[in-house]
Amino acid sequence: MSFDVDAVRADFPILARQVHGRPLIYLDNGASAQKPRCVIEAITRAYEGEYANVHRGLHYLSNLATENYERVRAIIARFLNAPHEDEVIFTSGSTEALNMVSYGWAAPNLQPGDEILLSVLEHHANIVPWHFLRERQGVVLNWVEPEPDGSLPPEKVLAAITPRTRMIAVTHMSNVTGTVVDIAGIRAGTDLPLVVDGSQAAVHMPVDLSKLGADFYCITGHKLYGPSGSGAIWVRRERQAEMRPFLGGGDMIRTVARDAVTYNDGPLRFEAGTPGIVNQIGLGVALEYLMDLGMENIAAHERALRDYARDRLRSLNWLQVQGDAADKGAIFSMTMEGAHAHDISTILDKKGIAVRAGTHCAMPLMAHLGVPASARASFAMYNTQAEVDALIEGLTFCRELFA
Ligand SMILES: *Cc1c(COP(=O)(O)O)cnc(C)c1O
Repeated sequence: MSFDVDAVRADFPILARQVHGRPLIYLDNGASAQKPRCVIEAITRAYEGEYANVHRGLHYLSNLATENYERVRAIIARFLNAPHEDEVIFTSGSTEALNMVSYGWAAPNLQPGDEILLSVLEHHANIVPWHFLRERQGVVLNWVEPEPDGSLPPEKVLAAITPRTRMIAVTHMSNVTGTVVDIAGIRAGTDLPLVVDGSQAAVHMPVDLSKLGADFYCITGHKLYGPSGSGAIWVRRERQAEMRPFLGGGDMIRTVARDAVTYNDGPLRFEAGTPGIVNQIGLGVALEYLMDLGMENIAAHERALRDYARDRLRSLNWLQVQGDAADKGAIFSMTMEGAHAHDISTILDKKGIAVRAGTHCAMPLMAHLGVPASARASFAMYNTQAEVDALIEGLTFCRELFA
């Protein structure tokens, strides 16, 4: 199978633009990815000719919009190889998804003194909802740290389990170090409920939920080349049955009376109010686009980019990269003595290179690594070796300015 990066680039209109008079080199995919023409056109088509509210039936456009919207559930199930389509709950992204697990599953099922095991690699979206439970109902947060190379061996996670551990929450891929966590390896050693943040991993590698062993797995559409405000969480049927609704309102109910309510069945009972109809339709198109390209092909292209970038970055002996696990994703968080991360990103920006600077919504990890801030170059399927070369040139220019 081949992967034609030039053909893929031609599908993304924004990649043809210039920034500060230079061709755009977009290396901030960890924050959000650009959108292919097919997604942009699908959004326009939905609004121009096929728009109405969903699940309200009884007229042509509402039925059409409902059909276009509901078919995305099956696309997401196929993309993640989920055992059952009704295990897919639409959300506005990973943040809403993880809050849904905290309010909907953990809050009613955990007692004061019960423990949640978290990895230090987590994004704030997979930390703060658990802090709510600590603050409000006396749940205890325990932490497991990565190895010096950024990896998180399953044995280390399993060794941190105590008799009071009730749940494990862990990322599938770190948005700072690119660390890939062996979820199946964790599952092999425990039956505890396992909440997995797939926000990064699902973008860069094939995910097979029938084999992974997660109980909850979230994705966020805007990192998957889809619209912002789209996403989903897959919840294993048995866990879904243990969940109570997190948001109340229209659509999630069957009947409402003055003194009682009954809820809808399946995923609809967790989807209150008018959803991001067109956003989800756009996400469906983005996932079909990815499946057409083939996640294996995308992963192979990005592995080659990662290896090339890693070799070239290693040759810069004045640059530090956080996390160097062999199988990491193509994400490089960098620091340079004498230059602040914000200065690096500002100078790179003047050369048309977009990277992110700061703490990357991962303050516990940054504290663990002992770096106040880093400049992060995060690659996607449309990036090229020539763009790695431009990054190296830009970093070398920074070094010359600050040395
Ligand atoms: C981006 C990201 C999130 C949060 O996703 P939102 O789209 O902001 O809801 C959570 N976890 C990881 C690892 C991420 O990269």
